[in-house]
Amino acid sequence: MIQLNSLQELSEWISENRDLPRVLVPTMGALHRGHTSLFDLAREQSLHGRVMVSIFVNPTQFGPTEDLEEYPRSLQEDLEECRLHGVDVAFTPQVSEIYASDASISVQESQLSKRLCGASRPGHFDGVCTIVAKLFLMAQPDVAVFGEKDFQQLAVIRRMVRDLNFSTRIVSGPTIREEDGLAMSSRNALLSPKDRQDAPIIYESLSKVAQEIASRVHATPNTAIRRIRDLIENAVSGEIDYVEIVDPMTLEPLQSFDQADARLLAAVQFESTRLIDNVGVAGFNTSASR
Ligand code: AMP
Repeated sequence: MIQLNSLQELSEWISENRDLPRVLVPTMGALHRGHTSLFDLAREQSLHGRVMVSIFVNPTQFGPTEDLEEYPRSLQEDLEECRLHGVDVAFTPQVSEIYASDASISVQESQLSKRLCGASRPGHFDGVCTIVAKLFLMAQPDVAVFGEKDFQQLAVIRRMVRDLNFSTRIVSGPTIREEDGLAMSSRNALLSPKDRQDAPIIYESLSKVAQEIASRVHATPNTAIRRIRDLIENAVSGEIDYVEIVDPMTLEPLQSFDQADARLLAAVQFESTRLIDNVGVAGFNTSASR
């Protein structure tokens, strides 16, 4: 595996390997099985080309009061993990390599990113779009792989690719979970032992109500949302940030379960960190399950 630290090294490597397809998996490091499942998916998509992983804790997607300093960093272990998963190139730039100190241009998405996580993390998706756009311009990947764990991020990136005419194809991988159902996340390490014990309730509640929706227990999304909120509130000390049921494409709140597929999403603020999760339900007039 090759480690590239600078833009100069990256562009030299790209010109030496110009003819090989490139698949990029952007990450912020502290790698776990959720990330490595995307490396494996990237390998499947690479058609004998090269799998690239970027490891970069992107400061512009953290708000001023968020956990940029506390965000776990483990570069040496991450590089080993990349090696073990057959990654060809790890791109590990410094912040100064990516952002000029007086940078004054960013990429903003103005619809999908305003709700859900965007409502409580203003500017977060501008940071995400900006770094992903920069990585796409720097690495020029044919394909880029993202996790459904960050469902809103995936929708925002697909929209950015559509609206800015990037030629990179976006592929998504399913959420990988701990044995107790908790979605793997670099932030899980920041939970207190008690909150770690409670945290699987988020997925448990979302999946229980997803099953109830599929069995037509809930007449409207509102009753289903209330049920999820009750299940979470009664079991965890964390504060619910949001529970929503949305159209998976537009992220608009669903008014009924009659036709559309539904995505159930929740965010919970624990004492030391904020966790998100989501689960899909197929619409009643389709046979495909998500
Ligand atoms: P991050 O390092 O948190 O920025 O995540 C990098 C990529 O890994 C994003 O596309 C995430 O959606 C994805 N990811 C994070 N956790 C998981 C998980 N548990 N399962 C699948 N993908 C994940």
